[in-house]
Amino acid sequence: MDTYLAVDIGGTQLRAAVYPAGATRPLAQKRILTQAKDQAPIDRLLDLIQSVWPTDHRVCAIGMAAPGPLNPKTGVLFAAPNIPGWVNIPLAQIVQSRFNVPTFLGNDANLAALSEWKFGAGQGYHNLLYITISTGIGGGVIEDDRLLLGHQGLAAEIGHITVLPDGPLCGCGQRGHLEALASGTAIAHYVAEQLALGVPSSLSQIAKPSARDVSLAADQGDPLARSALTRAGTFLGHAIADFLHLFNPQIIVLGGGVSQSGPLWMEAVRSSLSERVISPEYLHGLVITKAALGDDTGLLGALALALSQTSQPA
Ligand SMILES: [Zn+2]
Repeated sequence: MDTYLAVDIGGTQLRAAVYPAGATRPLAQKRILTQAKDQAPIDRLLDLIQSVWPTDHRVCAIGMAAPGPLNPKTGVLFAAPNIPGWVNIPLAQIVQSRFNVPTFLGNDANLAALSEWKFGAGQGYHNLLYITISTGIGGGVIEDDRLLLGHQGLAAEIGHITVLPDGPLCGCGQRGHLEALASGTAIAHYVAEQLALGVPSSLSQIAKPSARDVSLAADQGDPLARSALTRAGTFLGHAIADFLHLFNPQIIVLGGGVSQSGPLWMEAVRSSLSERVISPEYLHGLVITKAALGDDTGLLGALALALSQTSQPA
C-alpha cells in the first residue's frame, strides 16, 4: 500500500502520522514533547518519524508543518520562536536525506488553510481565506484552487498587518498589528490594562484572566469582558474587510481558540466587516464559518502538502 507521512512541528510537541493514500484516518500516529534535556529537537523529530515508519508499506512523501517564517520552496526554516537553535535550518533536506523520500515543508497556518480546503469546512470552494485566532493570528489564502505562497513563500502573514498605527506592541516587535489587537493575547492584555485602571469587572477576582476567562465572563454579561470581545472582533472585522478587497474569497474559515467565543464576538466581526467593505458585492454569497478539523489540522495540512506536491488525488 502507498502511504504518506505527515509531521506537525510545534514548540511544545511534535506529532507524526502515517496515512494510506486517499485516506484521512491514520494507520499510526504518535506525539512527543519537542524539547527534552538529553536530546536535541532535530534528533527527536527524526526518531519520531522513524517510530511511526511503516515496515510493510511504501512511504511516497513526507509533509511537515512548522511554525515561524520558512521557505516552502527550499524547505528552509528561518526561525522557530519556541525552539531554541532552530535558525536557518534546512529541515526538509535533513529529513529527506535521512529517509530518502521526497520531503516538503510548509508554514503551519498556510497548511491549516490547505487542510480546511481539502478536508474540512472549505471543501468544494475555489477561493478561501483561513484565519486562526489564538495566542497569535495567522492564516492562509486559497486563490483559484492554489495556496498563495508569494516570492519566498512568506505571503499571507495576515496577523501582521497594521490596523492601528502606533497601537499596542505586537509579538513581532512592530506596533498596531492585527495580532496585537485581536488575538487571545491581545484580549487578555486589554482586560489586564482596564482592570489596572480600576474598571469594575468580575474578572478582577481572577489572577491574570485569559482570553477564555474573558469569553466565559462575557457569556455571563460582564461589561468589561463584553467590551473587550467586541473591541477585538471589531478590529478583526476591519481587517477582514481589507482581506475581502485583496483576495475576494467565497468562504472565510475561522479557527483557533478565540473563534470559539460566543455570538457577541462573531456579531462584532460581521458588523464591522460589513461597515468597511467598499461594495456589498464582496458580501454577496460570502460564507463565514468555523474551522472543522480542530487539533488535527496541522497533521492534515502536512498530509495535504505531501499529496499536492506528489500530484496524488486526495
Ligand atoms: Zn506583528
